[in-house]
Amino acid sequence: MYMIDIIAKKRDGIVLSKEEIGFVIKGYTAGKIPDYQMSALLMAIYLHGMNDEESTYLALAMRDSGDSIDLSEIQGIKVDKHSTGGVGDKVTLVLGPLLASLGVKFAKMSGRGLGHTGGTIDKLESIPGYQVVLKVEDFINQVKEIGIAIVGQSGDVAPADKKLYALRDVTSTVDSIPLIASSIMSKKLASGADAIVLDVKVGHGAFMKTEEEAVKLATLMVEIGKLAGKKVTALLTGMDEPLGHKIGNALEVYEAIETLNGQGPKDLVEVTIEIGAHLLLDAQIETDFEKAKIRLQEALQNGTAYQKFLELVKAQGGDLDSLNDPSLLLSKKTVEVLSVKEGFVMDIDALGIGKAAMRLGAGRETKEDKVLLDVGLDLHKKIGSYVKKGESIATLYVQDKGIEEAKQLILSSLTIGKEEKHIVLIKQTIK
Ligand code: URA
Repeated sequence: MYMIDIIAKKRDGIVLSKEEIGFVIKGYTAGKIPDYQMSALLMAIYLHGMNDEESTYLALAMRDSGDSIDLSEIQGIKVDKHSTGGVGDKVTLVLGPLLASLGVKFAKMSGRGLGHTGGTIDKLESIPGYQVVLKVEDFINQVKEIGIAIVGQSGDVAPADKKLYALRDVTSTVDSIPLIASSIMSKKLASGADAIVLDVKVGHGAFMKTEEEAVKLATLMVEIGKLAGKKVTALLTGMDEPLGHKIGNALEVYEAIETLNGQGPKDLVEVTIEIGAHLLLDAQIETDFEKAKIRLQEALQNGTAYQKFLELVKAQGGDLDSLNDPSLLLSKKTVEVLSVKEGFVMDIDALGIGKAAMRLGAGRETKEDKVLLDVGLDLHKKIGSYVKKGESIATLYVQDKGIEEAKQLILSSLTIGKEEKHIVLIKQTIK
């Protein structure tokens, strides 16, 4: 087999075989196929696309390029969730303990944030002492004992994807549905879960700006999952505004704790319950979707979900006393952003709000950047809120950088006008 023939085939719009895709991924990971040939193939894929089978073979070949987690030692159905990334998305912090409190096994390897979207692992590190690195053996034992573990990626998961993603980044080939779907699914398929819910975000603050694009991505990921023998559901959820109010690492832990105590913002609760209900059914703990939702609501209200969160934090070495008053985890220096207009908030550019938090130091511009755990913002107004001139739109928790820039970004992200708008959060379910 020769790479030049495979490039020519795709250039001419011909479907590649499983063997050809396997040959490319093995050769590229081993350094036998040079970047210039891989770049040519990526561009041909970008222009001609890939069918479901090709995308699945690509996802599986990338999964097999590195380590997969074997969770078979843990009894029962193991579940996982993945978000394509949004602003203020702290769903994992709430959903994991919530599901585990109802008997679901939640063994989660999460990532760090890059750009305007935060990462669960950075958020958890804002709890003093919380260890995000566990040996695989300890990770598995913890799930066996308390039903939940949330750690950073261990081992070398899908190295082919890492190498390919870096190449896509510099060859304008990131934005291809088959390449995105196979990249995400290669890592999900390596995670060892039996059932997965994909939360595909749509809107300004998301990777997918339109519902049409998001449906295509979600449908392909579900198809790849099924062809690989997993139970996969995708939900399309809105990212027209940030999820909840708090954005920034410790701030998001704070809001997750409020939510686990039954005091969460409506949108965060809605998305968490919707994802949770699918996973309760997938885990065969409940058979009726509406009943599943009620059980999840009850666990948020009666303290059982929060108790499970405390067990998780304790098991991973976190300081429980620090959670008694999570406001102590935030920077003491605050700045208010005051509205210059009066009216209804008609639109919020979630991307602009995410960038504001990033400028304050809550996110990374490059992989090497260090994040500040105690900074970020608390957005007091959401779409549909009424705001008066001079009223606070947001409180910034700051150290010393990015304050003016963050203020301007927030002010320019809000559209204030006469109409009271309502947005639909759960847009579609694809199974
Ligand atoms: N996230 C991924 O993991 N891969 C992509 O290609 C895009 C988003």
